[in-house]
Amino acid sequence: MSEAVKRVYAFGKDANGNNVTEGNTEMKAVLGGKGANLAEMANIGLPVPPGFTITCQTCMEFANGGNSWPEGALDTIAEYRADLEERMGKKIGDAEDPLLVSVRSGAPMSMPGMMDTVLNLGLNDESINGLIKQTENPRFAWDSYRRFIQMFSNVVMGLDGDLFENAITAMKNERGVKSDTDLTAEDLQQLVAEFKGIFSQNVDPVAYPSLVVDGLVQFPQDPTLQLQLAIEAVFGSWNNPRAVLYRQKNKIADDLGTAVNVQSMVFGNKGNTSATGVAFTRNPANGEKEFYGDYLVNAQGEDVVAGIRNTSPIAQLKTVEGLEEAGQQLEDIFVVLENHFRDMCDIEFTIEQGKLWMLQTRVGKRTAAAALHIAIEMVKEGLITKEEAVMRVEPDQLDQLLHPQFDKNATYDVVARGLNASPGAAVGEAVFSAADAVAANEAGRNCVLVRWETNPDDLAGMIAAEGILTSHGGKTSHAAVIARGMGAPCVCGVEALKIDAEAKEARISGTDIVIREGDIISIDGTTGIVVLGPVSLVMPEITGDLDAILEWADEFRTLGVRANADNPEDAELSRSFGAAGIGLCRTEHMFLGDRKQIIQTFILNEDEAVREEAVRELLEVQTNDFYGMFKAMDGLPVIVRLLDPPLHEFLESARALDVEIARLEAAGTDAALVAEKRELMAKIDSFAEQNPMLGMRGVRLGIVYPILPTMQVRAIATAAARLKKEGLDPKPEIMIPLVSVVTELAKLRALAEKVIAQVEAEEGVELEIPIGTMIELPRAAVTADEIASVADFFSFGTNDLTQTTFGFSRDDVEGEFVPQYLSERLLPFNPFATVDAGVARLVQMGVELGHEGNPEIVCGVCGEHGGDPDSIATFNGIGLDYVSCSPYRVPVARLAAAQAALSQK
Ligand code: PEP
Ligand code: MG
Repeated sequence: MSEAVKRVYAFGKDANGNNVTEGNTEMKAVLGGKGANLAEMANIGLPVPPGFTITCQTCMEFANGGNSWPEGALDTIAEYRADLEERMGKKIGDAEDPLLVSVRSGAPMSMPGMMDTVLNLGLNDESINGLIKQTENPRFAWDSYRRFIQMFSNVVMGLDGDLFENAITAMKNERGVKSDTDLTAEDLQQLVAEFKGIFSQNVDPVAYPSLVVDGLVQFPQDPTLQLQLAIEAVFGSWNNPRAVLYRQKNKIADDLGTAVNVQSMVFGNKGNTSATGVAFTRNPANGEKEFYGDYLVNAQGEDVVAGIRNTSPIAQLKTVEGLEEAGQQLEDIFVVLENHFRDMCDIEFTIEQGKLWMLQTRVGKRTAAAALHIAIEMVKEGLITKEEAVMRVEPDQLDQLLHPQFDKNATYDVVARGLNASPGAAVGEAVFSAADAVAANEAGRNCVLVRWETNPDDLAGMIAAEGILTSHGGKTSHAAVIARGMGAPCVCGVEALKIDAEAKEARISGTDIVIREGDIISIDGTTGIVVLGPVSLVMPEITGDLDAILEWADEFRTLGVRANADNPEDAELSRSFGAAGIGLCRTEHMFLGDRKQIIQTFILNEDEAVREEAVRELLEVQTNDFYGMFKAMDGLPVIVRLLDPPLHEFLESARALDVEIARLEAAGTDAALVAEKRELMAKIDSFAEQNPMLGMRGVRLGIVYPILPTMQVRAIATAAARLKKEGLDPKPEIMIPLVSVVTELAKLRALAEKVIAQVEAEEGVELEIPIGTMIELPRAAVTADEIASVADFFSFGTNDLTQTTFGFSRDDVEGEFVPQYLSERLLPFNPFATVDAGVARLVQMGVELGHEGNPEIVCGVCGEHGGDPDSIATFNGIGLDYVSCSPYRVPVARLAAAQAALSQK
């Protein structure tokens, strides 16, 4: 098996029981996660059905070559197939004793349920006889054949699965039976014939000339053709829409490809000493050290995940007659796997007539709570180090713990209960299809997706919904696994829920309650309850395991974490979350509500006395605002940014006023009022700008209206002086926004220093208030050395810096063309969420030049990127002192900063 590029790797034993595995767990980029771990399990002596893995690179070559096979690849596959047949002592398609194989996807990154699988491959009109002979179980054999045709037609040929399900239902009705298991061997044989007919009628002969026999499309009988088409389909599934969407959401590169695992079939549906199941070595919901999962006796793989039959808990397996030994062996293997991978593993297994086979293992997905608990427990057990524990928790996942929960004081009636599949609570309108969830989300309405069970086609709807509710399926069903991965609340397996998706309603059995589309429902994925109507939600506190991991994170991180907050409540919250100060207090947020009236008076009135009175009023309220902020953050820095947005943002909408005037005129209301409104309109118009984000805002506002920064600086200094007199330790800093040239900052700095000196004199208190600037324009970044000469600190406003570096309007483009840019991969990710490399280069330049101009300068980031783990990894490497983010992102940022420091060590 010599060739320049190695495309296929064997795993498992040969006919003599020797391990002939060629790969290992380190080879995920080549063999995919599944292939690499199958190899690893075989290497450590676990029972793995033999097979071979076709590499991810072959998948990409196949795709990049316009779905054509790289030279020699099919020959290599044929060699490995022959080798597998020799190892198994059986041939695929054999009429006496056929080998059947599964063909499964397996990408380098786990993408659960996103790609395709074909089971029972190798069955045809000849080998069915061999299977009957070997198993002496015609029912099992015909059931396997009909499953294969059904799966092959659906997965490989893209035929509608309902065509086959309808035929099964018709057969059951005809026979007067309820369950599939009540169908006899003869019934299933007849179904096979019907399925082949459906295949012939629905497959396009032009698209599949290789399937045409005697002028008619036939279900392929040649195992070589079956295998080739199945592998091509699995390759193709790398680029199916749901896989592409999943990669986009999880920032997985498109050029990794999927491996294909061709593996000898073992059967969990060979009677009552056969079973199949999925399991975790610890509880993936809360991290408890217990074996967790489900199994079904006499069933095949997909039956467990599909949630069609009710499963039993894995702990019971070893008590089942005939399965005792396999059940015990499985538990022993759980321990072996944990010790080997030094992590919680998830497992797929099958027991065939009492013999245990391991079909898959990987590091198991888990909730944030479980991730924290498992990491801490494993440190205690001496299995991993503290550093590893900190690396084990996904920072973004922490959001789950900070997710809303039902308010303990709220009263509500529980209308149904199900499984607590993914923690957190959600409130929204009930919707009954993924498309309706997407539509509700686009219209700005919160929704809960209610489904019988979800499948991969529902992914877009699951992302769009606040939470997911299903009537079927266990904790390892699709809905549960995906929701946990996304951190979305999910309640599943609510049996009382009788859903009619067509009619867009669900009845609660045993009651006369009907949930209709648009009705508000609440679900709690932490407890598994369903409530009709809204329940008020609260945010949980950080305690226990999260606290412990964050304390470890703090030991390792070098980047500081501050918060963006503009009221004392948020300031206190961020302090409790571990923020080391306020990195950005946006003072324009203090001008909402009744304050708006005062600033409107200032803007619209030309009478100087009236304007001065308005500013006096503002001074009073601002002084109180800052007093509250500095008190909440006593002893910690609070960066107050002077007013930034265009003034007209504080004014009424011109369009609304226009409509009001038209109405007044039509109603013939008094002319004086109309004239007054018209005058107001003219003033508002005079503040309108073509590009307000590039117009009269930021430092420019302070230069044109110095009375505003004078007032704000006075308020800051006065609040600080008062607190000092009360014995506290206020640490305000003043930040000038949107500076592009050093002269702007110099002018405002002089103004601020003068005001501070006045307040010091008036109050008899000495104040130390650093003055700095935001760096959020390219010109500022490239002249940061000059600007730093008059700045005590820089805070990089990466929101505006992204806007101005790309020339992308930050308020518009995310809804306009960024989604298309992302789906066409013109951009690798949304640059307003994760810092772009070009923008990061400007930040780095700003930091370096800033230190040239002022070696003492303190540099932070306060754009949205400050709370994004990927951006934090970038910022950690370019000399910044801290990041600042919204309060709820503070724990995320602490962990991400530690991970960045540890991985850049
Ligand atoms: C920024 O531009 O990154 C910033 C933090 O300021 P704002 O979002 O308020 O413009
Ligand atoms: Mg800004």
